[in-house]
Order: sequence, then structure tokens, then C-alpha cells
Amino acid sequence: MEQTPRLFSSDEIVNILTQSKQATAIYSGEALVIQAANDAILNIWQRDRSVIGQSLMDILPELSDQPFFDLLKQVWRSGESYSGRNTPALLNKNGHFRYFDFDYRAIKNADGEVYCILHTTADVTREDQLPQGEEQLLAQNSALQKEINNTISEAKAARADVERQGERLYRFFMQAPAGICILDGPELRFEMVNPLYQQFFPGRELLGLPLLSALPELIGGPIPEILNQVYVTGKPYEAFEQMIPLARTATGVVENRYFNFIYQARLDENNKPDGVLVFALEVTDAVLAGRAVEENSASLRSLIMSSHYALMILRGRENVIEIANQQIGVLWDKTLEEITGKELMEVLPELEGQPFPALLKQVYDSGVSYGQEEELFYLASPEGPLEKYVSFYYDPLRDADGQVSGIIVACEDITEQVQARKLLEESYDEQQSLNEELTAGNEELAALNEELATTNEELNEAQADLERLLRDFELSEQRLRSLVSSAPFPIGVYVGREMRILLANQSIIDVWGKGESVIGKLYSEILPELAGQEIFEQLEGVYTTGLPFHARAQRVDIVINGVLQAHYFNYSFTPLFDSEGQVYGVMNTAAEVTDLQLALQQVAQSERNLKNIILQAPVAMCILLGPQHVVEVANELMIKLWGKPANTVLNKPIFEALSDAREQGLEQLMANVYHTGETFTASEMPVSLLRNGEQEIVYQNFVYQAYRDADDVILGIIAITSDVTEQVLARQKIERNEAELRIIQQQLQKELDAGKLVQQQKDDFIGMASHELKTPLTSLSAIIQVANSKLKTSDDTFLAGAMDKAYTQVRRMTSMINGFLNISRLESGKLIIDKKHFDMEMLLQEMIAEIGLVAPGHNIVLKDCNVRDVFADREKIGSVITNLLSNAVKYSPKGKNITVRCGLSGESISVSVQDDGIGLAAHDLDKIFDRYYRVESSNTRHIAGFGIGLYLSAEIVRQHGGKIWVESEPEKGSTFYFELPLN
Ligand code: ADP
Repeated sequence: MEQTPRLFSSDEIVNILTQSKQATAIYSGEALVIQAANDAILNIWQRDRSVIGQSLMDILPELSDQPFFDLLKQVWRSGESYSGRNTPALLNKNGHFRYFDFDYRAIKNADGEVYCILHTTADVTREDQLPQGEEQLLAQNSALQKEINNTISEAKAARADVERQGERLYRFFMQAPAGICILDGPELRFEMVNPLYQQFFPGRELLGLPLLSALPELIGGPIPEILNQVYVTGKPYEAFEQMIPLARTATGVVENRYFNFIYQARLDENNKPDGVLVFALEVTDAVLAGRAVEENSASLRSLIMSSHYALMILRGRENVIEIANQQIGVLWDKTLEEITGKELMEVLPELEGQPFPALLKQVYDSGVSYGQEEELFYLASPEGPLEKYVSFYYDPLRDADGQVSGIIVACEDITEQVQARKLLEESYDEQQSLNEELTAGNEELAALNEELATTNEELNEAQADLERLLRDFELSEQRLRSLVSSAPFPIGVYVGREMRILLANQSIIDVWGKGESVIGKLYSEILPELAGQEIFEQLEGVYTTGLPFHARAQRVDIVINGVLQAHYFNYSFTPLFDSEGQVYGVMNTAAEVTDLQLALQQVAQSERNLKNIILQAPVAMCILLGPQHVVEVANELMIKLWGKPANTVLNKPIFEALSDAREQGLEQLMANVYHTGETFTASEMPVSLLRNGEQEIVYQNFVYQAYRDADDVILGIIAITSDVTEQVLARQKIERNEAELRIIQQQLQKELDAGKLVQQQKDDFIGMASHELKTPLTSLSAIIQVANSKLKTSDDTFLAGAMDKAYTQVRRMTSMINGFLNISRLESGKLIIDKKHFDMEMLLQEMIAEIGLVAPGHNIVLKDCNVRDVFADREKIGSVITNLLSNAVKYSPKGKNITVRCGLSGESISVSVQDDGIGLAAHDLDKIFDRYYRVESSNTRHIAGFGIGLYLSAEIVRQHGGKIWVESEPEKGSTFYFELPLN
């Protein structure tokens, strides 16, 4: 009778299994606790039974960087069994790879839950596989180790480079003599501001603020749109002397300030603008200085033009008339267009043979002023040479070097004075000759021009703030460290032409980013995104040809978390050969160099930025390296300043390239900066340079500053120069103009003083002479009057007539002498107005009757007079009327009518004397009331007079609070009016 076989206990089953020749083990849980392991598998593991009950991972740590633990965990979690064939495993760190066929079988309970994994395996290593695989791997291993070392040192070098570049860049920002800032993002937030930029706005808060919040006064102006355009298009924008209304301080007023600036887009690694770099230089002072020069020249011009003197400036030895005023035109009887810009001898060829050209030359050669009180001057006119008398002064004008470059000519037409004097001499047979030369006219000098406030910008030394930079680089260092620590090289082994993944370490699994379960899958299945990146073709090629393939810094785009990302690798595909020499797979090793690659790109970017800053800075800049000061970089402004072609200067020692700059003290300065690290600054330093073939003096503001590396070692010199030649010349020009103004002012003063003295002497003389003459004349007049009345009854008609005439002459003489006496009284303030009530009509009748006696040839009529009572100085008003009547007689031909009117006009009494005589030109109408003024023409030349009658009359009327004027046209007669207030 057969016994129902009993079911073995699980312990018994385990026990039986452990007897099996087939290597077998059972694991449970995620920790892979070894529930059972037979001798065969313990043999493979080279462990004893004590391992049972422990975690597989603890007892076989050598498998930790091989795929098996992960596979087992995967099986535990998913419940899906896994088999591998001919899979290499390295069970002894120092041993060889061996090859196994294996099964990981998930064993489930009735509920379908996995409760253990049954692991069976067989060592299928072929003898021939052993040595070759090992050598290959060892070789590969050491090659990769080298690669990693290289990568690490490259990354280190790159990092140091980035640091250096970054620091250089930062130093530049901070030390550049131009205002530099970085505006970040579309809202243009101040990301960085250098000290000079901040100086545009002392104390104003900029950093971290969007541009328009920090500087709201920009709103409404063109700047925001310009910046926006630069940001959007990436195209740079350059402006020259652009006016921008900006406040200096937070509470300050908005001023019109001028800037030269460049806006340049800052590009990210994809070459897209992500900000704007601003380089700016304030040129407000220079612009204003330029204007001051213009205004200054204009004021010199207007001073000359408005002077009552005849003034002009002659330039050069040719005496080119740079500027001449109206009085010169009157003197020469020429329009200003006929004069200005011409050579003197061309305008007045008649000067040939006259003393003036030689005197001008003498002043030009000697640099000594020359003046003369009275000189005869012949002016060519259609009627032949006109004789004029002039007094004149020649003063040399000097240029910046003190060389005479021109002459200021001041001159006065004293013809009338000379003639008046001659007449006086003749009339009174005077012994003493009067000094000639009258000058009149006051000149208000324009206020001296304001000092050119060229505050030449001191290019301040900036302190490099490295903290920010260091912070940045700590980050990149961490990146680098993680690069190094994750460097255990990615490695994968693919078999068959279809490239089935046999082996893949954590590092390569991480690179792929496709999760853990990759073993056994096709390479192309895991990384479909590589299609089109030539990688599949490379693998295929290695498989087909048996030749390894190496790539350096190759870009590989891999999808990670659904996003296609760029990576850079140094990688190798190495063929794996079987014993027949057939390729059966490919080993893929790689070193990720993405960080390195990005660092290199950053270096390039940083280098570009540095160059850009130097090249585009709105001031001249260069870097000179080493003790020889070799020109490493120089921007266009610098090259222009040097005035030599760029290729003759760049990469040359500076004093070799610019030999003309030697021996001006610059060598010592530079050497000092290079050796001591002390910054040197200079303002408006004159430097003589051979520029474009010519020796020129340029004025420069300098900063020489030590250029240091990251360790503070001095590498060379940063030279920053702004050319201030224009400003300096502008200021010198202003100074020169001021000097010219001063000369003119002094000269005018001199002439004024001289004129006053002469005038005074003359007035004194006239006063004395008139006084002395008056006494004998009064007795003579009385005698003639007595004789006259006696002769009235005499039969001697000749005597009676002669005595009448004598009386007339005596009266004329009396009136002349009274005139001179009055002048002298007027000058000394002794002309006293003695007002009384009198009858104007009667006075007019008396005066007409009196003039009728001396000038019987004219027909004088009094019309419309109904004014009787007037309150004024009867005698003086009488002399005014006499003067107007005698002029009417003098300046109109005999037989003409003279009409006298008087009447009330408002609160005044008005008197007019009208004649039909020669009349007056418009430009003489005002002047005839001036002292000694006489109209000079062929009509008046033979009419005697001193030009004092109207002057005195005007004074008398004025002292009554009245006014006097004339209406006249040439050849149409004149009407003289005067008005006196009734009270
Ligand atoms: P004088 O007659 O002694 O020269 P006045 O002061 O009286 O001096 O006159 C100044 C000048 O005015 C004269 O020289 C003359 O040219 C001009 N003048 C004066 N009255 C007349 C007039 N009625 N018609 C034309 N010219 C006149």
C-alpha cells in the first residue's frame, strides 16, 4: 500500500535546494536578506555559511558599483523576474571579470505578493575570455583615470582663468575713468554701478533699483526708449554731447547735463540680450566752456562794434582787418562789407607813402605800443584826396606763446577839432598853440568773462570690491567640487550590433537620466534623442571596423525630465573582441566636461567683455604689460591720441612705438607705477607727440594705475587718458580774449584821461581868453555906441555908415565871446539860470530886429505868435533864439525866407525857426547838438563857426527843463524847435 507522500517543510525544501550543484540563493525584502545559499553559490561568492541571515549588500560590497543589487531590488519591487546571459561580474576587486548566466525569479504567495527571490546562476566564463577582458579593462581604467585627471586640471585652470578674467573685468568696472553701469533685465535694474557712475549722482540710491525708479526725471525724455531699443535689438547706441536733464542729488534740481555715452547690449550665453552695459562720460563743463568761448568772442566783437571810437583788429603781417566797427567805416567813407576780412592796403591803397604802414610794421616787429596825437591822413575820394587829421593808437595783440599776432587799432577823426583850433588861432592871432586831440565817449566794458570752470575730472582711483566676485566664485567652486566628486567615470558596455546594454554604472545611469532599469535594454531605446546626433553611427562604425572612436568636448543633447539638455563629453567607444577576434560589443567610457565647456565659454565671454570695455570706453585706454610696457590692448581713442597706425603700436613696448614720447618724464612715472603700485594722476599735462607726421602739443589728463592679477602681483599698467586739449585751448582762448579786452579797456581809459586833460586845458584857456577880451570889448562897444549917436547928426555919411558897421562887428564879436564865456561857465557849472516873467513875442521881435541889422539879405517873418507871459531866463533864451536865427541866415542862401513861430503846446511854450537852406543829412541830426560838432561838406566848408552855438542852446533849454530838436532834409531846409515848460 502506497503511503501518501508527505509534503516537505519549507526548511526541508531549502535544505534540498542547497544540495543542488546549481548555484542557488534565496533573498527576501528590499534589504536582500540571504534566507538560503548553497555551497555552489557560496563558492562563487567565496564566502562561508555565516553569511546567511545577513544582507547581500553587506557581504558583497564589491558589487556595489555593478548593476546586480539594483536589478534584485527592481525584481522585488516589480514582481517581474529577470535573467541575464554571459554577464560579466567582478566579484573580487583584484580579480578578473567572470561571466554568468543567471535568473532572478520573483516568488509570490497566494495573494500574488512577492515574498522572496530565487537566484540561480551558472559561471559560464570561457577561459579565453579571461585575460583579454581584464587587460582591456585595466588599460581602459588607467586611460580613463588619466582623462579624469586631465579634466580636473583643465577645469581648475579654467576656473582660475574665469576668476582672473572676472576679476580683471570687475577691476575695470570699478576703476574705469568713465561711468559704467550694468542695467539688468527688461526693467533695466541697476545691477552694478562703478564709482564714477555713482559720482554723476552723489548720494542717490541706484543699486538694485529699476532705472526709472532710481532716476524718475528720465521719464518723458528719449533715454528710456533708446535703452529699450538697445535691449530689444541688441544694437549698440552711441551719443555725443547728448543733453540729459538730470538731478545730481536726490533732492537737487534737475539740470541740463551733457554726456558722451555708449549703450551696449549685454548678451547671455545664447547671445540674447539680457541687460545693457552703459559707458558714460559727463562733458557738461566742456560743452559749457565751448559756449563760453563763443560768447566771449561774441562779446569782444560786440564791444568793438558798439564802441564810439573807431576800433579795429588787424591780424598778421598782412594786416587783415578781422573786425572793424562803424566808426572806421565813417572815417574811411566805406561800408563794413568793403572792409571786413580784407587786407588794409587793399582797402586803402592810398596809405602807400603815408606813415601808417611803417608804424604798424614797427609795432608788429617790436611788440611795443605806439600812439600819436595828431597826424595828417589823406583819404582818396572821387573829388581828390581828402585831408583828415587823426589821433591813433596801435597796440600789439599776442597769441598764447606771447608772439605778436595782430594789432588793435583805435583811432579818432580829429579833423574838426584841428580845424576849429586853426580857426581860433587865426581869429585871435593867438601865440600859444592849443593842444589838439579831443576824445570823447565812454566805453562800458563788458564784464570780464567768467573763469572757465573746467573742472578737469580727477579720475579717481577706485577700490576693487572683490567680495561679490568671491561669492560668485564660491558657487562655481562648489560646482567644480561636485564635478570632481561625481567623476567616477561613467561607463557602459553594449553588446551586439543592436547595442544591448550589458553594463551601466550609476554614473552613466545618472548621465542618461532615464531611471535605473536600463540593463538589457537597447541603447537606442534608452536614448532615442541621440538619433541625428551621429552617436549611433559612431557605435555602428566601431562595431563594424573594430577601430576605437574618441571624441573630445563633444556636445550631446540628452532628454532629462522631459527636457532636451546640452551636455559636453570626452568619450570613447572601444571595440570588445571575442576569442576569434570578432567584435561582439562596445565599451563606452565618458568624462562629462559640460562644466568645463561652460567655463570656457564664460572665459571667452569675459575676455570679450573686457576687450569691449576697453575698446568702447569713451576715453582713451590701454593696458601695458611688463617692465617694457608692452601695449597689450588699446582702444581707438588711444590709438588716435598716439597718432600712429595701430599695427605699429600694438604688442610693442610703448616707448619703442612712441619714441617721440620719450624723455618727457613719462618713463620714470610709468616705472614708478609698475614697481611701487602707486597710482599716478595728472591734470592737463602737456605732452609733445609726433602725430600723423606733425609735432603737436596735446594736453592730457592721465591715470596710470597698476594692473594686478588675482594674487595682487603687478602685471603692468592700466593707462587711462582723456584728451583735454580742446578744453585747455578753449580756456587759453578765453584768457587771451580777456587780455585783449583788458588792453582795449586800458587804452580807452588812457585816451579818455588824455582827452579830459586836453579838454580841461582848452576850456581854461577859452574861459581866460574870453574874460580878458570881454573888458576891452565892452569899452570899445560903449565908445562906438557914443560915437555912433554923435555921428547920426554928422554930415559925413561915410563915417556914420562905417561906425554902424563897426558896431555890428563889435556886437558879433561880443556874442561870440559871450558864447565862449558861457561854454566855460557851463563846463565849470557856473552857468546860472535867472528866471523872470517876460513877454515871448516881444523877445522874438527884438531878436529878429537885431539879426535883421547884421543880415539884411534875408526875409525874416514872425507868425502866429500869441504867447506873452513866459517864466524863464530872458537873456539866455534870447541867445538861443539869436543862435537859431543866425544859423538860419548862415545856412540858407540870401533872399530866402525865414519863418519864426511860437505858440502853446500843452503845458509848454514852443518856438520854431524854419529856413529854406541847405538842410541836414539824417545822420547829422543828433550830432549837431554836440560840442564842437560841425557838418563837413563842400556847402559848409566856407561858413565860419565853432560848433558851439547849438550845444550851448541845447544846454540852456535843458536847464530850463525843456527840449530842443530839428527836422530837416538835405536841400529842403531845416526847422529848429524848442519847448519850455510854462512853470
Ligand atoms: P556853428 O554854426 O558855429 O558851426 P552850431 O552849433 O550853431 O555851430 O551848429 C552846428 C552845426 O549844425 C553847423 O556847423 C551846421 O553844420 C549845422 N547847422 C546848424 N543850423 C543849421 C541850419 N539851419 N541849416 C543847416 N545846417 C545847420
